[in-house]
Amino acid sequence: MSKKWRLTDRTRTLLTLELAIVLPAAALMAFSIWNLKQIQRDQAIEAAIQRDFSYVLKIAEKKSWERANEMVVPVRKEFPGLDDGSKTKSILEHILLEHPEYSYAALYDKKTNQLISRMQPGHDMDAVYCGHVQEEINNVASWIPVESPGMVKHLRVMEGKGEQPLAFYGGWTMRENQNSYWHIAYFIPPNVPKDRATVGILGFDEDYMRKDFLPTVMKDVLTGKSSVLKADANPPIMMIHPVKEMSPWAASGMWDGGKPEAERRFADVFPEMVMAIKYQGTTVADIGTRFLHYNYMVLAALSVFMVGGIWLTYRNVSREMTLAKLKSDFVANVSHELRTPLALIRLYAETLELGRLTAKEKYQEYFRIIREESERLTALINNILDFSRIEAGRKEYEFQETDLGELVHSTLESYRFQIQQNGFAFEENISSDIPPLKVDREAIARSLLNLVNNALKYSKDRKFIGVRLYRTDGSINLEVQDRGIGIPTNEQEKIFEKFYRCGDPLVHNVKGSGLGLSLVRHIARAHGGDVLVESEPEKGSKFTIALPFAAAPQTGNATA
Ligand code: ADP
Repeated sequence: MSKKWRLTDRTRTLLTLELAIVLPAAALMAFSIWNLKQIQRDQAIEAAIQRDFSYVLKIAEKKSWERANEMVVPVRKEFPGLDDGSKTKSILEHILLEHPEYSYAALYDKKTNQLISRMQPGHDMDAVYCGHVQEEINNVASWIPVESPGMVKHLRVMEGKGEQPLAFYGGWTMRENQNSYWHIAYFIPPNVPKDRATVGILGFDEDYMRKDFLPTVMKDVLTGKSSVLKADANPPIMMIHPVKEMSPWAASGMWDGGKPEAERRFADVFPEMVMAIKYQGTTVADIGTRFLHYNYMVLAALSVFMVGGIWLTYRNVSREMTLAKLKSDFVANVSHELRTPLALIRLYAETLELGRLTAKEKYQEYFRIIREESERLTALINNILDFSRIEAGRKEYEFQETDLGELVHSTLESYRFQIQQNGFAFEENISSDIPPLKVDREAIARSLLNLVNNALKYSKDRKFIGVRLYRTDGSINLEVQDRGIGIPTNEQEKIFEKFYRCGDPLVHNVKGSGLGLSLVRHIARAHGGDVLVESEPEKGSKFTIALPFAAAPQTGNATA
């Protein structure tokens, strides 16, 4: 695999990452921010709420008209006509007794210019009440002679259209420094001939209107189907005020002051009245700001997650790519490592086969080379097999009580010749106080061989290998020291990872698979211990396998 190819591969992955994830993510973020800015600039939230508010007010007006109509229609049917004569007063009184929501009832006929009126009998004893009602009746008496022809004409037109001949009228007066609303329904009583200008009048009780009728209509509308309003934590509240004054006259709940968000002037049913609406305890502007803040925060949190995700993806992809590169290097290295000893073995075997050698030492030398090379092959294959077992989670250790001193010595013995042949000074130092330990003999031997082999491979001029086996407080330490090329500090943890080989060009001149130390670490950990390295570039390295001897390891499967 050429360097150039790897570079393009990496660049391609980064480009894909950028085009497929980073760019769309950034575009999405930018679009969301732009969108929110637009909403902020257009005050879209505020406008939407205000639209809802206006709609609610419109419904409230319609509802109050419907309710007032429903109240008056049946009463109109009971109303006395012109031919009731002396019974008129008692009929009016009866109606009032049945309907406490009216404070008076009256019948006016233009032709006789007579206004027959009755006050609510239920309040007979209340002098103040009677005074107010009498004032209202007097007021009606003052304008009805002039207005009645026009009123009747209007009502007859309605009747002609198939509607109920009834209408409403009202207005504000000041009473004891307070706004007071008088409100009447007027209609043509039943059985009145078409040529007579006769009007029936019902005066609504002010308290009833203010404390019952209007608050009920407002509450009905607010708790109705308009889900837009219901969804908010701050409930909306409505009130009614005179056109010229802002203080509430009737309200759906506690009006907490402040400016209404929307208003509607009642035209038909309650002249001069204004209905207002707002949220309790907050303003629409605040809600708009809160909505935007909330959305900006969500966006910020999402961006953080997105950037985090992209970073994680990038990290994983780079890791996978590094691993892929290590694996391909591994394949190249291993094939080379297999080929070299095989070529040597074949070459020397062929030479021997020809039988042309004369000197006996030559035979010895050739046999030794063949043995050494086949040993190298075995070690390599063992490493690869062990590694694949570990990777598959099938590596099993056979722990048995072992004299470690003896095991280390005999393992080194078979290697001693080779070490010395390569010109290495060799020191072996085995303490006599090593207690017997339960270990997997083969695995420990293989670890030691891997370490010694590395010391051989990664030394230049100062050729020294020292092996020590000694006891400390809690562990038995097996130490392999060299005076070779050393390992830079930043690579000292990585060398134990599978396939990892140091960046030093010298390392790449030496063949290796990058598996040895990862196996050593797996083996040490399976024994409940670990492997440590102390090293300084150009000075040498010391690898120590520490095996605890208090805790006896268990037999069974162990994975890396
Ligand atoms: P290999 O030797 O097959 O490459 P290892 O897993 O045994 O694989 O070692 C990993 C790397 O650690 C080696 O490639 C080398 O760079 C470094 N290394 C191991 N032992 C030594 C040592 N004694 N001195 C210097 N470098 C070492």
